[in-house]
Amino acid sequence: MLSNSLVELDRAHLVHPVASYRGHEKAGVRVLRSGQGARVTDASGHEMVDGFAGLWCVNAGYGQNSIVEAATRQMQELPYATGYFSLGSEPAIRLAAELAERAPGDLNHVYFTLGGSDAVDSTIRFIRYYYHCLGKPEKDQFISVANGYHGSSTVGAGLTALPLFHAGFGLPFDWQHKIPSHYSYRNPVGTDPQAIIYASVGALRAKVAELGAERVAAFYVEPIQGSGGVLVPPDGWVKAMRETCRELDILFIADEVITGFGRTGPLFACTTEDVVPDLMTTAKGLTSGYVPMGAVFLSDKVYNTIADGAGAAAIGHGYTYSAHPVSAAVGLECLRLYENGLLDNGVRAGQRLMAGLHALADHPLVGEVRGRGMLAAIELVTDKANKTPLPASSEPARRIFDRAWDNGLVIRAFANGILGYAPPLCCTDDDIDRIVDCTRTTLDQTLEDPDVRAAM
Ligand code: PMP
Repeated sequence: MLSNSLVELDRAHLVHPVASYRGHEKAGVRVLRSGQGARVTDASGHEMVDGFAGLWCVNAGYGQNSIVEAATRQMQELPYATGYFSLGSEPAIRLAAELAERAPGDLNHVYFTLGGSDAVDSTIRFIRYYYHCLGKPEKDQFISVANGYHGSSTVGAGLTALPLFHAGFGLPFDWQHKIPSHYSYRNPVGTDPQAIIYASVGALRAKVAELGAERVAAFYVEPIQGSGGVLVPPDGWVKAMRETCRELDILFIADEVITGFGRTGPLFACTTEDVVPDLMTTAKGLTSGYVPMGAVFLSDKVYNTIADGAGAAAIGHGYTYSAHPVSAAVGLECLRLYENGLLDNGVRAGQRLMAGLHALADHPLVGEVRGRGMLAAIELVTDKANKTPLPASSEPARRIFDRAWDNGLVIRAFANGILGYAPPLCCTDDDIDRIVDCTRTTLDQTLEDPDVRAAM
């Protein structure tokens, strides 16, 4: 059987991202074969709704022929052009201009990368260079938020505030600091939104005072924390943190790698609170996962300081595949699709998704349902009153993933029993209803899981 030999080849040769290598070898790979709309089919012909859009990225959905045609045309015409030596390609220039036009405030300058991690990595390089140009190289301390995720590059993984990405890697660096998360379901200050905002602003002020404002470069947030468990801050939190950064004279970076391109409704989530960051990172929905690409948006202030400061000298930061023309052609077509119906459909589908998931709130295992737009989570508990998490081992989570799969749904099952949802924006009512129905069936089955029962 083809799929059996693929499993063997995978086991022997393909190293998987964020996996227990031995656990994966034991379980074996699940091979996906095709996708159409919001549905994917595995190698055995089993069809599922992709409730996680790959890895929160296939925002436009599968099988969008116009994206394939845009990539094909560009590959035939000019598959590659470097941005070095002042060269360029038409799609890259046009995409930068289209994005700048839509980005908040004066984020008018776009630096293309290959994905989110190198976009975050690039911000660190730009910020260090910015302060060098200002004659303040001592501003070299970076702050992010607990439960935050900012990629898997060495420096980005240090900003990431998930222990899995640090242990064994010698991270974080001593110039990388964290403040507590706004995580409202489990916040020591309680659930009152104003108290949470007050606590976060206070924590940032305290951290900056501890390090010395003259030493702090920047503060990173995700408008909604994704990989930390889809943690939605209270309304006004992002704006309050932005204003605090302005007051403390530190740069504010919005990492919109997940939240960008319609995931929460608008093209960029920070516009929900009229926030204009100093730098912004995006990836994923930028090209809907059809080809790799990320983008860093630089404000006029940051760009011009770097440009003037360097003068005639080249700024030594670049990749072979910066502003790749095929990725840019795909990005342009994705943007056209978003603005010709997909964003609107995502808003409608998001309302249906949130309503459907909220209707599961009375299930014995559901501690909290949260989200915005097409980004949602259910936090499972074995005791609602005490908010007791699922048993600590990742096995129940793995089994939840497996059950959902068998029921016809791909979700993210975080090890701590949080179920993540980020379906394609093209979802039909039927797709959304299937996501909710499969979730209900999966939760009912999970009630019978021996480890879960033992903990209840
Ligand atoms: N920042 C955020 C907020 C992310 O969610 C991710 C990826 N999940 C990244 C950065 C890194 O992006 P990539 O995996 O494309 O390198």
